[in-house]
Amino acid sequence: MQAWVIGNWKQNPATKHEVNTLLDSLLAAINSDENDTVNKVTHCQLMVAPSCIHLAAVSTRLKDTSVLCAAQDISAHSDSVGAYTGDCSAQQVADAGATWTILGHSERRQYHQESHDVLLQKLTHALITNLGVVFCIGETQAQYDAKQTFDVLDKQLAVIKSLLNQELEQQPEFINTLNERLIIAYEPVWAIGTGKVPTVNEVSATHEHIKHMVAGFAVPLSNISVIYGGSVNAANADSFAANAMINGALVGGASLKADSFLAIANAFSHTKA
Ligand code: PEP
Repeated sequence: MQAWVIGNWKQNPATKHEVNTLLDSLLAAINSDENDTVNKVTHCQLMVAPSCIHLAAVSTRLKDTSVLCAAQDISAHSDSVGAYTGDCSAQQVADAGATWTILGHSERRQYHQESHDVLLQKLTHALITNLGVVFCIGETQAQYDAKQTFDVLDKQLAVIKSLLNQELEQQPEFINTLNERLIIAYEPVWAIGTGKVPTVNEVSATHEHIKHMVAGFAVPLSNISVIYGGSVNAANADSFAANAMINGALVGGASLKADSFLAIANAFSHTKA
């Protein structure tokens, strides 16, 4: 199974110049003949999610490369146009060159109170616009401490079930292609940007639970990719990559440096080859 290593740049870098510098070093390393990165990352699909303002420029630079470009979010209100100040629609981010979007990141849930219904709208808009979706779920520290992780994840995954219920009626073949267009990112909120990580065994057991739940929604989803996010770095990537339940990584801080991002990609490519 191909691994996914996805960089979530969040509200970074600050300037166009810094975006280009980051892309220069990323593409130079990927294209370098002296470097065996190309061979190593062939089993690993790379993707980066720049902020909305940099999306068109980044996707233009990535056009003829192996690196995919994603949005970090899309509007819940309309898949196209409308009076929704500050929003960018699925159609607009696709037109800017994104082929995927992250949805439900914990920072969106925390700072923008994204609910089940909002996420269902966004998921629907993305998929009908042919954007793939990296759907993020994860528990808080308090929920982890109270051993509520699986309950929390089940509630968050219910959005996928609602999506299937509504889409199945309209488009029976929709579900058969969903495996290729939907990735679940398990991101414990307490591990994001903190340097704290769950054990590989904990992540593995959680991914097994997620895969089991999603397969229960629809049989064709039994091969869904589930990736881990939360303080993944060049030093710990090998241990996550070595586990068969972990199909890749969603990377925040370490994706802002080409070296650490590609070290993570190499770790996954190596073990999934
Ligand atoms: C994230 O924000 O999705 C993330 C995983 O961040 P970090 O790698 O910095 O913990």
